[in-house]
Amino acid sequence: MTVYNLPDLPYDHNALEPHVSARVMELHHGTHHAAYVKGANETLDKLSELGADPEPAALARLERDLAFHLSGHALHSVLWQSMSPNGGGEPQGLLARQIESDFGSVDSLRKRLSGSVNSLQGSGWGALAWDSLGSRLIVQQIHDHQSTHAVGALPLLVIDGWEHAYYLDYQSKKADWVAAFWRVADWTMAENLLDSLVQPTNR
Ligand code: MN
Repeated sequence: MTVYNLPDLPYDHNALEPHVSARVMELHHGTHHAAYVKGANETLDKLSELGADPEPAALARLERDLAFHLSGHALHSVLWQSMSPNGGGEPQGLLARQIESDFGSVDSLRKRLSGSVNSLQGSGWGALAWDSLGSRLIVQQIHDHQSTHAVGALPLLVIDGWEHAYYLDYQSKKADWVAAFWRVADWTMAENLLDSLVQPTNR
């Protein structure tokens, strides 16, 4: 069954050059993200074939697979919206005020989020997320696609720390990729998401 679909990129493959090469965008979107979409759909098929009384180990493996692929699909969908050829600016409105309240300044947030990616052991992500229970912004260091992700937090802006995100362009210099991300970072979706999540009475 096809429940999940690969979203189109909101810009051309070469739109983020020289910060992200067209080749990296082609592979990252067309191969890596596409594989997570395919994996999520295939895992749903396998789960439906397990029946009402599944073998426990098979069920556990498929539940892990679904979490991995579905989280990969979700994070990459946020990633494409977290960058744009018109990016590199500052957040506005409610998001800007909330960042100042929770992190002191946008520069402090940028340092925290950069640090969460640069200090990853292995593959993972850095995410600016809205903690719906605490009504505050948090920075998350997410291992693989979902480990160390706190349920209830919604990623608003993300940086991919997997090697496939930067190795062709920056080789082992992950910090150079993170610095390049900020030159194309786009806050628009994060601003719109936060506006939709926060009740007007709390603004
Ligand atoms: Mn990736």
